[in-house]
Amino acid sequence: MSQPATETHRFEAEVDAVLRLVTHSLYTNREVFLRELVSNAVDALDKARILALAGEALRPVEGEPKIRILLDKDAKTISVEDDGIGMTAEEVRENLGRIAHSGTRRFLEEVAKGAKPDDASLIGQFGVGFYASFIVADRVEVDTLSARPDAVAVRWTSTGDGTYQIAPSDRTRRGTKVTLHVGERGQEFLDATVIERIVKRYSNFVLYPIELVDESADDAKPRRINATKAFWTRPPKEISDEEYDDFYREFMGGFLLPGDEPLTRLHFSMDAPIQFHALLYVPGRAPMELLGEASRGVALYARHVLVMERAEKLVPVYLRFLRGVVDSEDVPLNVSREAVQDHQSVSAIRRQITRKVLAHLDALAKDDRETFEKIWNRFGAILKEGIHTDNAHRDQLAKLLRYPTTTSGGALVSLDEYVASMADGQKAIYYITGASVEELEASPHLEACRERGIPVLLMTDPVDEWVVLNLTEYAGKPLENVRKGSWAGPDGATEDATDETADAGRIAHLIAKAKEVLGDRVADVRPSKRLRSSASCLVDPPDSLGHNMERLLEAARRPVTVRPKILELNPDHPLVRAAEKIAADAPDDEHLPLYVELFFDMAQLAQGTVADPAGVVRRIQTVMQEVLPPEVS
Ligand code: ADP
Repeated sequence: MSQPATETHRFEAEVDAVLRLVTHSLYTNREVFLRELVSNAVDALDKARILALAGEALRPVEGEPKIRILLDKDAKTISVEDDGIGMTAEEVRENLGRIAHSGTRRFLEEVAKGAKPDDASLIGQFGVGFYASFIVADRVEVDTLSARPDAVAVRWTSTGDGTYQIAPSDRTRRGTKVTLHVGERGQEFLDATVIERIVKRYSNFVLYPIELVDESADDAKPRRINATKAFWTRPPKEISDEEYDDFYREFMGGFLLPGDEPLTRLHFSMDAPIQFHALLYVPGRAPMELLGEASRGVALYARHVLVMERAEKLVPVYLRFLRGVVDSEDVPLNVSREAVQDHQSVSAIRRQITRKVLAHLDALAKDDRETFEKIWNRFGAILKEGIHTDNAHRDQLAKLLRYPTTTSGGALVSLDEYVASMADGQKAIYYITGASVEELEASPHLEACRERGIPVLLMTDPVDEWVVLNLTEYAGKPLENVRKGSWAGPDGATEDATDETADAGRIAHLIAKAKEVLGDRVADVRPSKRLRSSASCLVDPPDSLGHNMERLLEAARRPVTVRPKILELNPDHPLVRAAEKIAADAPDDEHLPLYVELFFDMAQLAQGTVADPAGVVRRIQTVMQEVLPPEVS
């Protein structure tokens, strides 16, 4: 059989574009070329390992699979060689002649949108993979032998000028060797200490040995330059903060923006009931994707070997902001990764992690309030989901809840602190839910509590509606919604407040008139115990979803029947008293229906929405015309 001759191919147009950007713009962070090549080598080793586990017959490799970095200062070359899966000739054309992977595509899209390609964060986020070689190399050769038993070795060569060549290679070991012929731009990398520093920075915890061979040194012996042990198996007291931070950066892809540093970490090992190591971090920033459920980032290792990068079943959904690794001897190295997650050991690990993380957050809240509040502000809304979804840990989660109150001046208060500060005779924890603190602060429902200095929790997260559905009491105290119709007013306020029937008697005529005028637009009309300076407000009938919940469901375009509310009138308010007098003395007064409508308008306005804005305007004008002096004609 004759050897096929060298063939020349053109790059796909997009590759050309990437190459031009890479070679002309990416000066600021040139060292990433090595990170990209090492991660490709790791991927190739992983693929070979997984296929072997799946029982595929692969070309064997002598000794432990490794990555070797070969440095030759005389020849001015840097090579990265792996014992991984390798590529067939067809795969070489597929993978190195076109943009086959999403990272580079997204990189190009960002550049097309106007991002500057020399922005270090851009390459950090997307990477440009293999093509980063051309940052430092004038010419790149790839010698590869696929681990498929019948494959032949191929050599890919390019100077990055729009074409590449494919020819036979004399490689006999399975895997891939990428050789960079370093040009002007890459001289500084022809130095063993520089290479070692870069590998430690980006690839220290890679699970395969990375060996460096300085071929130009007198004694060219391979030496291992990355960590020899899975980091998380070391005892926590032997690990410095800096090492923990380095590990986190490495884990997050080798690049952190300011503010991305982790807020707290938790490192522990267990032997019983199940053996595992866990190193978990709370990230410094809540990336958009965290809010969705798709992305969870705790990696699962079985006996130090990576099983899955994102094992979503290792942590409950409401802890999905955690990042880190779990490594267990009890997890089977199954070929089907999804099946591994369903193994009973994974749910046992999840239970232990949940317990430990919640205890850690509780301790943090006590020891380092500032950090805890940062975590709460970023991830509290996610944590709160657990109150609804995880009965078993509801009490532990409830301890972590933090809300501003009407008396805290913006500071966050825990339920324990709220209970500790309750006034004598106050029997319940009061709260109100709504869209914003500003809106809630202006709410007439708070007036009676405010007058007595009784704090009300201000709940403004949509998920709070679910929190209060599930959390009906805390530390033996009921949680009461001050907007609910059944609310009887703050305890301790009762001594000087007349009872409801007496109040009803004081404004009986007005109430009767209001029921007649408003008809089925209201569920009821009655005197209020929660108002002081306002004349009227609307409250939720006991069996309704509640005003804020209705509003949320409507905003989410979910079908919802908005139930009529109860109109409450303040029997001590001068306007209400004046209207009562008219209703008693002259029930047919032509202005009375207008006044009733205005009490209803004001109550609706106070909670942010009026059914009939044009009607409100008309009624206000009518009243103004009465009050203002007659027009001069
Ligand atoms: P990415 O690694 O992000 O997919 P690259 O441009 O770095 O993108 O590589 C493109 C493809 O080339 C890879 O997806 C892989 O299939 C193949 N490849 C690159 N390096 C190697 C290697 N060392 N061994 C085997 N295949 C490789």
